Amino acid sequence: MSGTATFIHRPRFAMTDSTSLLLSPLALPPFSVVFLAFLIAGTVLGLGLLHRHAHHVRRHRDAVPQPFADAIPLHSHQRAADYTFARARMSALHAVANAGFVLLLTLGGGLQAVHDAWAGVLPAGGLGHGVALLASLGVLGWLFELPFALLRTFGIEKAFGFNRMTLRLYLADTAREAALAALIGLPLLAAVLWLALAMGELWWAWVWGFWLGFNLLAMVIWPTFIAPLFNRFTPLADAALKARVEALLARCGFRAKGLFVMDGSRRSAHGNAYFTGLGAAKRIVFFDTLLDKLDADEVEAVLAHELGHFHHRHLVHRLAVLAPASLGVLALLAWLAQQPWFFSGLGMHSSDLASALALFTLVLPVFSFPLAPVLSHWSRKHEFEADTYAARHADAGKLVSALVKLYRDNASTLTPDPLYSRFHDSHPPAALRIARLQALQR
Ligand SMILES: [Zn+2]
Repeated sequence: MSGTATFIHRPRFAMTDSTSLLLSPLALPPFSVVFLAFLIAGTVLGLGLLHRHAHHVRRHRDAVPQPFADAIPLHSHQRAADYTFARARMSALHAVANAGFVLLLTLGGGLQAVHDAWAGVLPAGGLGHGVALLASLGVLGWLFELPFALLRTFGIEKAFGFNRMTLRLYLADTAREAALAALIGLPLLAAVLWLALAMGELWWAWVWGFWLGFNLLAMVIWPTFIAPLFNRFTPLADAALKARVEALLARCGFRAKGLFVMDGSRRSAHGNAYFTGLGAAKRIVFFDTLLDKLDADEVEAVLAHELGHFHHRHLVHRLAVLAPASLGVLALLAWLAQQPWFFSGLGMHSSDLASALALFTLVLPVFSFPLAPVLSHWSRKHEFEADTYAARHADAGKLVSALVKLYRDNASTLTPDPLYSRFHDSHPPAALRIARLQALQR
């Protein structure tokens, strides 16, 4: 299954022997046409948005927008513009390559070729064959992403001074990720496929229950067992800061199992803070890079924002919507797995359950891109709510100065294209957030 030769497999729809796809598009099954239309529309829209964004940022490169004029020097603003431009160009390249990758595996017959290759070793339609097919898809996806990940880390991030990762650490991370994928991912995949094959008509409900249980378990074990494999976590040592953080927690009626500092600086200069865990196992984690940049007041304000997410139960809301939605998605998959047009329309003539799963994971993003602005809008609403909470429980002015510092040091653009931002940004543009915080402060 390795090498590109297996991808030159004649697709199912080319039944008219010598006629090629290009010569007779009318020979395409209707679902192939729908799929192609979505793939092209999504890619063109994505490229159009990136183009707008890159040029908007370029146009505003030579002047720091008013509210930041005092706090952010012109050279930082220009660096942010160049960084955004470089990332947008990379995203455009990725979008085009990704469309090609999906086409190659579907209508190009790639997935069918992988299926056939494994069928020579394991009985097609069985558990072993299904796991091999899906794992192969995972490996192919990883190989596809690899050059982009390398270019990002050792190209763009390095050029702009953010990357702190050596190639050696990168390889060590990769090896650990691969080991985790094999140790956790493969048994998980096998369990899901076994349920799907063994549980009869309602297999999708069983898989959903299993998947949900696994996710909850992962939230509990991630901070204590998995995250330490990649980073070192040390209890927050700064006594003064610790006292302030604890006072804030008490003020907000919040309990956490511990305050930790993570050595994020091993990999990147970008700073962050987050909460992990569930219930009593909750911990607060500060990136060391964040503590280096912000003073105690600002750290407190950032933490108050994060507490705002907890206070408003944003994670619970998210689960309450995503859990039933994923049940619907699995029910859809179960239905599609019985429709011959689903397989033939996507370039496969095998129609077993594992093939349906593989095709589904490949093409779901192609059809779901119209949801992106809805999800982004939802997320931005949560950010505003967390900011309001932070303004109530800490100093809004300090959250503003923290944001300005983080925007400056992360080279995040202050002038995103409004349409691009609406579509993609999980966080509101800095200018909007800051204007709102300043209004709350008064
Ligand atoms: Zn937030």
